[in-house]
Amino acid sequence: MSVRDHRECERVRQLFTAEIDREATELEEAAIRRHLRTCAECAEAYDAHVAVARGLRQHPLVRTRRHPLPLWRRIGAEIWVFVTATVVVAALVCAFALR
Ligand SMILES: [Zn+2]
Repeated sequence: MSVRDHRECERVRQLFTAEIDREATELEEAAIRRHLRTCAECAEAYDAHVAVARGLRQHPLVRTRRHPLPLWRRIGAEIWVFVTATVVVAALVCAFALR
């Protein structure tokens, strides 16, 4: 560790999560790859980050979070919104018709 710019390390490490989630821009990805080739500390940190991210994805609780409700529950919720809207519209139409 000599004159390495640690602001660069911090900047690159902040991009790890975005890079692993494929949310980083091409420019950011290139910056990460370039930095990892020259910085063993960050390369190690990156490997650890990837391992943690993979571990999380395989965890059932995290995996189900993407679809919090089963399909039929979601469809059920949409039907309720539709029924409620229909009732409200019907009530309004009746109110106008009976005036
Ligand atoms: Zn670094």
